[in-house]
Amino acid sequence: MDMQTENACSTALFDDLKKPGGATPVTVSFGDGIGPEIMAASLRVMFAAGAKLAVESIDVGERVYRAGHTAGITDAAWDSLRRTKVFFKAPITTPQGGGFKSLNVTIRKSLGLFANVRPCVAYAPFVATRHPDMDVVIIRENEEDLYAGIEHQQTQDVVQCLKLITRPGCEKIVRYAFEYARANGRKRVTCFTKDNIMKLTDGLFHRVFEEIAGEYPDIAHDHAIVDIGAARLATAPETFDVIVMPNLYGDILSDVAAELTGSIGLGPSANVGAHGAMFEAIHGSAPQIAGQDIANPSGLLLAGVMMLIHSGQPDAAAAVHNAWLKTIEDGIHTADIFKEGVSRKKVGTRAFAEAIIERLGQQPSSLMPVAYGEIAVPASIPEPSPRRIKAKQLVGIDVFVDSTGSVEELASQLRQDESGLIELVMITNR
Ligand code: NAD
Repeated sequence: MDMQTENACSTALFDDLKKPGGATPVTVSFGDGIGPEIMAASLRVMFAAGAKLAVESIDVGERVYRAGHTAGITDAAWDSLRRTKVFFKAPITTPQGGGFKSLNVTIRKSLGLFANVRPCVAYAPFVATRHPDMDVVIIRENEEDLYAGIEHQQTQDVVQCLKLITRPGCEKIVRYAFEYARANGRKRVTCFTKDNIMKLTDGLFHRVFEEIAGEYPDIAHDHAIVDIGAARLATAPETFDVIVMPNLYGDILSDVAAELTGSIGLGPSANVGAHGAMFEAIHGSAPQIAGQDIANPSGLLLAGVMMLIHSGQPDAAAAVHNAWLKTIEDGIHTADIFKEGVSRKKVGTRAFAEAIIERLGQQPSSLMPVAYGEIAVPASIPEPSPRRIKAKQLVGIDVFVDSTGSVEELASQLRQDESGLIELVMITNR
């Protein structure tokens, strides 16, 4: 069987299993630090809400790294991921020091998870935040930019990291952002780039954004240079709706946005591609509070809600989400969001999960209840447009010279070239 047929078959199998009645096969890892506690709590709530999940458990993370797998994952774990194509992942600890590769980057690239979706919502007045009306979704490009991992030692004193931006990559993520906005009743998509400086790379991202925005006249669009955009996001996040941006800016600003909601422990994250998806909390493994039954499982649980929507189980997703909102509204809070005078009861991870289970079937009365239909995820993952072949023209070549002499000595050596092919105009180390 060739690769394409194999992909088509496994996708068809996956679609069958997603149909109502069949449990969705899901690869689950319990992770490191607080991971096992918050994963157990999240699964308990989801099953109590009627989620149909056929769980395959895998081991990834610190133990696997230390056992000699430099990417933190074994072949057996890959087999499960390729089979289920849905990964529910608790946070892991990445060991410090050289030689270890980021598991997240490896999984995103291997499964083609090009879109990272992070809803950042305030739950005021029940969770303290300076931005009570905040409800922003950050959509981060997940595969390109400075995360291509291509770095060179140019000379002994100069290193470089390549920023790769492709037209198909821009088209996919920008179209995904507009499709997401349309499917979720969002009104505006904003693009952040730094195209006043990076005219080719960020310039392409911005240009493609403007082109594709024209295909969605029902959704408003605008662009901001990332520095002022970030400043506005930090001071007035309620003025944004959906924001799409290249990888590095998205990485940084989605953490900022999650923290602004009141606690990093509240934020979920979905990594989506044509052939798979990974759902996790925004936060890490919080080793300082591991094993104490005090971690907030909300980020992972809300990622589970996104996974249930993705898996065609909108009713279970809504049941979990509404019971969670009701629990927050009733002031049953974990330590990270507990506030005297606002919260009613401080609970641990397990008791918080039990409180949500007790409220299954209830709706919040102050916070807005959710209802998920089939439309809550973009109907299809956008394909980039066919490649347009343009005429190519050589406009110049870059030459790097590693020299320890003075600039004057180097200039005089270069001027000795008598072929007439090269004229020295400038020497620069930038
Ligand atoms: P962290 O997110 O684990 O912790 C930051 C702070 O937030 C800590 O004070 C922690 O106690 C608190 N916190 C985080 N989650 C919480 C929760 N659910 N409930 C209550 N408080 C919570 O970030 P870190 O300390 O920088 O990283 C710890 C480890 O996690 C590192 O090894 C890092 O590499 C890893 N990490 C993993 C992921 C992932 O697996 N996706 C993401 C980020 C960091």
